[in-house]
Amino acid sequence: MAKLSASQSRSRKSADKREAVLRVLHQSDRPLTAYQILARLRGDSIKAPTTVYRLLEQLIGEGEIHRIESINSFVACDKSCHSDRKKAVFSICEECGKTCEFADDQILAILLRQAQMLNFELHSTTLEMRGRCASCAGKA
Ligand SMILES: [Zn+2]
Ligand SMILES: [Zn+2]
Repeated sequence: MAKLSASQSRSRKSADKREAVLRVLHQSDRPLTAYQILARLRGDSIKAPTTVYRLLEQLIGEGEIHRIESINSFVACDKSCHSDRKKAVFSICEECGKTCEFADDQILAILLRQAQMLNFELHSTTLEMRGRCASCAGKA
C-alpha cells in the first residue's frame, strides 16, 4: 500500500475528527453545546474549541446537523423527517431538554412563499418551538 502524502494524511485526520463530532451528536438525545461536545471528545485528539466550531460549521453546511439558536446548541439531523436538510422545525422541552425534529411541508411552504414575495433568497431556516414535552407534562 502506498504511503499517504502529508496532505492526504492531514485530510484523513480531519475526516476522522468530523466523524467523531458527528458520532457524539448522534449518541446524544439532547442538543449539545460546542463545549459539551468537546468534553465528550477527549481521546479523539480534538482539544481546541476552534476545531470543534470549524467542524460544526462544516457539518451544518453539509446538512448533517442543525444549530438550535436559542440554546446555542447542536443536534444531529434526523434525516428521516425531511428531505430539504437546510430547513428544519424543532420542539424543545424547557424542563428536560428533549428535542424532537419534524418537518411540516405546509409550514415550510408558507415561509418559502413569504420569502418569494419579498424577493428574499432563502438559504436555511430553523424553527424552534419551546415548551414542555409529553413526559414532563405527565401526558406520556
Ligand atoms: Zn434535520
Ligand atoms: Zn421534557
